[in-house]
Order: sequence, then structure tokens, then C-alpha cells
Amino acid sequence: MPRVALIAHDEKKPDLIEFVQDNEDLLDECELIATGTTGKRLLEETDLDIERKASGPLGGDLMIGAEVAEGILDGIVFLRDPLQAQPHEPDISALLRICDVHETPLATNLASAEYLVEGLAE
Ligand code: PGA
Repeated sequence: MPRVALIAHDEKKPDLIEFVQDNEDLLDECELIATGTTGKRLLEETDLDIERKASGPLGGDLMIGAEVAEGILDGIVFLRDPLQAQPHEPDISALLRICDVHETPLATNLASAEYLVEGLAE
């Protein structure tokens, strides 16, 4: 089963919830992890099983990055808010960087998220 992380900044959480609901069948075939608040919202709004890490600003992005470094994560959907500065910007940069180091698929918008989820499900 592919292991997939789901993360969304606050303004993007509704988009991620809708995306996950639309792709619930495919994502049900994956092991899912998420940052704290994203995971909480997804657990409330879907029937999926999701392992929650810490909230992003409290280190959740770094916990997901650690899984990338360990080589146990197959892909990440990370809907960032491109219009607002985040207090944990260094953690976000670290996560993006470690994905590039390990060639881990990373989708930062809905269009690429579709490809990522369909690709991993094949
Ligand atoms: P959250 O973290 O899911 O706990 O809101 C997301 C983030 O800000 O990276």
C-alpha cells in the first residue's frame, strides 16, 4: 500500500477535504498520514483511517519530512496557501527540500494532486 501524507494550510483545508472526498476510493487503498489539524478535519469529514502527526506549526511538517528521509513515504499532497506568510516557513522549506533530495512525489496544488493520487494507485 502506498503511504501518502496530506497537508493543507487553513485557507486550503476546504479544497483538500473536497479533493479527499472525491478520491476517497483511491485513498482508501493508501496508508494515510496528515498534520494535526488537517488530519482532524479529514477524520471528521471522511470515513478514512488517518494517522495524525503534530500540527504543522508545532513540527508536523518536520515529522512528515522525517518519514521522507527514512524512505517510507511514497507521496505528499501539500496544499499550501500561496498568499499568506506562515510562521513555520523554515519547516515548510525543509519538507520541500527533503522531497527533492529523495525524489518523493509532492503535489502542491489540486491539478498535480490528481496525477499524484492516480499515479500512486496504479
Ligand atoms: P495543520 O498544519 O494541519 O496542523 O493545520 C498544516 C501546516 O500548517 O503545515
